[in-house]
Amino acid sequence: MDIWDKNKRSECMSKIRSKNTKPELVLRKALFARGFRYRVNVPNLPGKPDIVLPKYKTIIFLHGCFWHRHESCKYAYTPKTNTEFWINKITSNAERDKANFQKLTALGWNVVTVWECEIRHTYKHNLALLIDRVEVEILKNQPRKISLKFYE
Ligand SMILES: [Zn+2]
Repeated sequence: MDIWDKNKRSECMSKIRSKNTKPELVLRKALFARGFRYRVNVPNLPGKPDIVLPKYKTIIFLHGCFWHRHESCKYAYTPKTNTEFWINKITSNAERDKANFQKLTALGWNVVTVWECEIRHTYKHNLALLIDRVEVEILKNQPRKISLKFYE
């Protein structure tokens, strides 16, 4: 049985969804510490990207696993109540993500996706590993600038 009624659930979901949630701050702080400068929540680009690095023509989406249907992730579960509603909602989110990705890459943007579970769980105790991965992705367009420390 669902422990929340509908109102409570949607109230809670909207909190999860709100901007400047902790994982985003964690990611931004870590990127800043590595010397990356960015803009946040740029509204005039497809998908209102969370983090934009103009210098590297790179966009970072920090996706919640539930809302953006992270494939084979345990947080991308299907709720037991209002199942049809959630399936439709989340499927359309995933389709919109795909369309935005295509639009952005067509415009020449390098698009990087970071999943919330990576920050909350997978790399919780070694965020540097995640940021290494993101840094490599950011620098994709400029391979000569990748620092040698990745190959040590
Ligand atoms: Zn996930």
